[in-house]
Amino acid sequence: MTDEVASTADPASPGGSAGSAAPGGPAGPAGRRRVVIIGGGFGGLFAARALRRANVSVTLIDRAQHHLFQPLLYQCATGILSEGEIAVPLRDLLEKHKNIDCVMAEVVDVDAAGQRVIAQRVGGGRLEYGYDDLIVAAGVQQSYFGHPEYAGWAPGMKTLEDALAIRRRVYGAFEMADTAADPAERRSWLTFALVGAGPTGVELAGQIRELATKTLRSEFRSIEPGDARVLLFDGGDAPLASFGPKLSARAAEILHGLGVEQHMGTLVTHVDRGWLEVRDHAGQQTRYDASTVLWTAGVEAPPVAEALARATGAERDRSGRIAVEKDLTIPGHPEISVIGDVMSLDKLPGVAEVAMQSGLYAGRRVRLRASGRMPDKPFRYRDLGSAAYISRGRAVVTAGPLRTGGFIAWWIWLFIHIAFLTGYRNRVGAVLTWWLAFTRDDRKERAFTVQEVKTFRDAYTHPLTPGMPEEAELPGEEGQPGQQAPPAQQAPAGQQAQAAPPGQQARAGQHAPAAQPGKPVSAPPAPPPPRQAR
Ligand SMILES: Cc1cc2nc3c(=O)[nH]c(=O)nc-3n(C[C@H](O)[C@H](O)[C@H](O)COP(=O)(O)OP(=O)(O)OC[C@H]3O[C@@H](n4cnc5c(N)ncnc54)[C@H](O)[C@@H]3O)c2cc1C
Repeated sequence: MTDEVASTADPASPGGSAGSAAPGGPAGPAGRRRVVIIGGGFGGLFAARALRRANVSVTLIDRAQHHLFQPLLYQCATGILSEGEIAVPLRDLLEKHKNIDCVMAEVVDVDAAGQRVIAQRVGGGRLEYGYDDLIVAAGVQQSYFGHPEYAGWAPGMKTLEDALAIRRRVYGAFEMADTAADPAERRSWLTFALVGAGPTGVELAGQIRELATKTLRSEFRSIEPGDARVLLFDGGDAPLASFGPKLSARAAEILHGLGVEQHMGTLVTHVDRGWLEVRDHAGQQTRYDASTVLWTAGVEAPPVAEALARATGAERDRSGRIAVEKDLTIPGHPEISVIGDVMSLDKLPGVAEVAMQSGLYAGRRVRLRASGRMPDKPFRYRDLGSAAYISRGRAVVTAGPLRTGGFIAWWIWLFIHIAFLTGYRNRVGAVLTWWLAFTRDDRKERAFTVQEVKTFRDAYTHPLTPGMPEEAELPGEEGQPGQQAPPAQQAPAGQQAQAAPPGQQARAGQHAPAAQPGKPVSAPPAPPPPRQAR
């Protein structure tokens, strides 16, 4: 990749005239309004689709090339579904909508007065896009509560890279246990610690026990995969607390039946290579040797939310999410909508349905503005319920008055996910794969490479100029016992994980200086910001 170019090309005329129009004025081809969407997750995709027949030019910018179906990430991580079944190229999804262009870049700053966003290409190189309407759908990222260094030992579960790293760690752990001569080392490889007993932690815990006791049951000669311990830690009283006490208790019962060891009321105070330490309500500190630690505990807004707040004066909540008006715009900025997980409104949960509905609303609102009409109806969220998978044949579901856990809930979960999975081919593929997985304990997506999937490193933070050496070492990616963490990254033992103040974990130095409107910027590439976990 080169790090040269920068442009301010209009989306509908690649390489065409650069620059920003007067705020609010049409500037695209044929006088079209320019709409920029940041993020191609559920919110951004639904907003884009709502604009497909509007007389606007849309540029959808995402730091990834694909739309990711996050609810099934854990199935990719545990070998049921392939990457391609849960991640579809945005270009493919939006191919037919000729007024929409996709750009793979990371938005690093917003110039609200000049109505431009500034983005960075992989490895450096600056891009600018003028807008008349901006829709921010950047989602959230994993939070380590002020301890980003834990990411090196305990991958989160937000991106495709995360899922592939987890797959390698989980299946790799059994391989390592198989050849470990020392019983203590073998035990450590066969111990999986999960931090966070929300839906993702519970789903992963159930899956690991299931693959250990079913899929891998008779494949090893030196170890008994079913001996694998799965430890689930959470500061609350019960797993899946958001589903209410009854379903939460049901989930605890199902997890117990699967052999998941639940350590509720515990706070993780330290994570390191091969072990973690927790403190219970009574103040008792306990260390657990576990070569695989997975983190599903918290979320925070991504760095672009901080840039947006700074540019607009928008307020942010404790997780750094942007507070919006009832029409999903930032106060004083009717041209900027914030949707999905990164928006803060009426304590709406961070779920796909909120993102989809807010995306549709924001897209329609922009469409009305483009046709000269004034949208007046506030956003109203229709709660369609939620579901969490625990193991084969076991799930919990809430939908209106319906609250159920077990086999029926599992069927409901199945239908919901088939219906919402992105792309017709993926739906058919998932049905076939699930049929095999559920009837024959077969997980066909178990391949992993022994080379690292570098979740601790982010391609956007590195100059990938030809000839540049790759970054030397990544702490904790492999998790081999006996190797030490770099001392600077170790938090003092016993120190409790604290919630980071909003924005604390944003990447310093990320915001490139604004370019002059109308002038392509031949870039001094933005200096690579410090490494940061995602
Ligand atoms: C493991 C997991 C399981 C889940 N299970 C469920 C479930 O069962 N049911 C449910 O309803 N919800 C579930 N959710 C939540 C649901 O996936 C989210 O609520 C939903 O994806 C939010 O959509 P979004 O568009 O706001 O953000 P996202 O889908 O996260 O999309 C944000 C996009 O913005 C991009 N981006 C971020 N920053 C930038 C930047 N600076 N520049 C360019 N692009 C950027 C990202 O690459 C990403 O593609 C789950 C989430 C996870 C992680």
